[in-house]
Amino acid sequence: MIETRGYATHDESAKFVPFNFERRNLGENDILIDVQFCGVCHSDIHQAKGEWGNSTYPMVPGHEIVGRVSKVGSGVTKFKLGDLAGVGCFVDSCRECSACKADQEQFCKVHTAATYNGTEMDKETMTFGGYSKHHVVDEAYALKIAEDQPLAAVAPLLCAGITTYSPLRKYNIGPGSKVAILGLGGLGHMGVKLAVSMGAEVTVLSTSPSKREDALKLGAHHFVVTTDRANLRPLAGTFNFILDCVSADHEMDMYLNLLDIDGAMVLVGLPENPISAKAFSLAGNNRTLAGSSIGGIKETQEMLDYCAANNITSDIELIPITEIEAAYERTIKADVRYRFVIDISTL
Ligand code: NAP
Ligand code: ZN
Repeated sequence: MIETRGYATHDESAKFVPFNFERRNLGENDILIDVQFCGVCHSDIHQAKGEWGNSTYPMVPGHEIVGRVSKVGSGVTKFKLGDLAGVGCFVDSCRECSACKADQEQFCKVHTAATYNGTEMDKETMTFGGYSKHHVVDEAYALKIAEDQPLAAVAPLLCAGITTYSPLRKYNIGPGSKVAILGLGGLGHMGVKLAVSMGAEVTVLSTSPSKREDALKLGAHHFVVTTDRANLRPLAGTFNFILDCVSADHEMDMYLNLLDIDGAMVLVGLPENPISAKAFSLAGNNRTLAGSSIGGIKETQEMLDYCAANNITSDIELIPITEIEAAYERTIKADVRYRFVIDISTL
């Protein structure tokens, strides 16, 4: 086994302490990654704090992982020593079911091995994420990373990037689309950059007036503060697409009513409690309320290549691992600008 070190929480307090553990020895198709940076997703916070009711401890979170390949198994063809590699939200799946064959491994019919707070394909061996110095992963579930972008700012693409890219593509967002991004956090700011790059007219709907200038710098065309409902009235029935990136419980009808005929609101945010919406908010204007979950390996690579070609990375605040708890607190307060990334060399 390979000795490594991470940061773990042992319960829902989300108090993090150093944690020594082992990665498996490299199999034929495995690569060893010396992790350099790991993004801090709000999903880490939900799970560390047990908010989704599926948490197992000790938990080493982190699914926005980038680093360099320091060892390869005998059968590895996609990576060589020294290459950059990334790992997102899952590290294995059955590879044979209809979902895996359709490049939607995140919905594997047998088992998707989540990068952390999950189990390997044996459904027993716990998985540990990227708040750690080393990672071992089958090359089929690792992503190729371009050399010419700031690596720390690429890390968040592995989750925040693909989670926003995938629905924007699925709903054919492009020139002429009127898009609203709800919640300007880690996902939201990537949603803005990507939707703008695809040619859409983008409005940020935010509870934080202080983010106006940033939103416009990110490329958004309009910024609207949602805490004063009067601001939303002129927007009724105007958007083709709303990407809901909000991490906390919030009302649906107020936003659904902003959709134009045949418009869709896609939830990527995953608050703790069930949502509710009035049937009339959906029936009016033939609206769709839908969800979306990350993306498969093929689409994640497509997104990374797209971001490299279009010079898109995340706006980050780089932190030492010792500041992880403070970073969680600030993220919960909607005060992240716009993704915390851990410098793993501090671990
Ligand atoms: P984040 O950085 O904390 O951003 C969330 C944003 O939501 C905040 O910055 C804030 O934006 C807004 N917000 C927070 N509390 C709010 C409230 N009470 N009412 C209205 N708006 C509020 O989180 P993230 O990492 O982007 O993740 C967002 C959500 O997506 C989380 O629930 C996460 O678990 C989920 N997620 C889902 C997937 C998927 O595959 N579906 C993947 C990754 C993450 P403003 O200040 O602009 O209002
Ligand atoms: Zn995530």
